[in-house]
Amino acid sequence: MPDFMDHVQERVQRDLDVAISEATRHGVGLPFCEECDAPISLLRQELGARLCVAHQTAKEAGQARGGRR
Ligand SMILES: [Zn+2]
Repeated sequence: MPDFMDHVQERVQRDLDVAISEATRHGVGLPFCEECDAPISLLRQELGARLCVAHQTAKEAGQARGGRR
């Protein structure tokens, strides 16, 4: 079984690398937060992130509450 697992992990890792490099090439997200210029990880850029974790969380929290009153 270890052989099989090695192959799966290798393939998953390769798919991930391809997905990340393609997303970076297409410029889906931003390398730095729009609000505070904090660096954004490649994985979050791939997901289209334009804000750092702190600002993204704050924004989502605000949306969930329907904004301030
Ligand atoms: Zn930020």
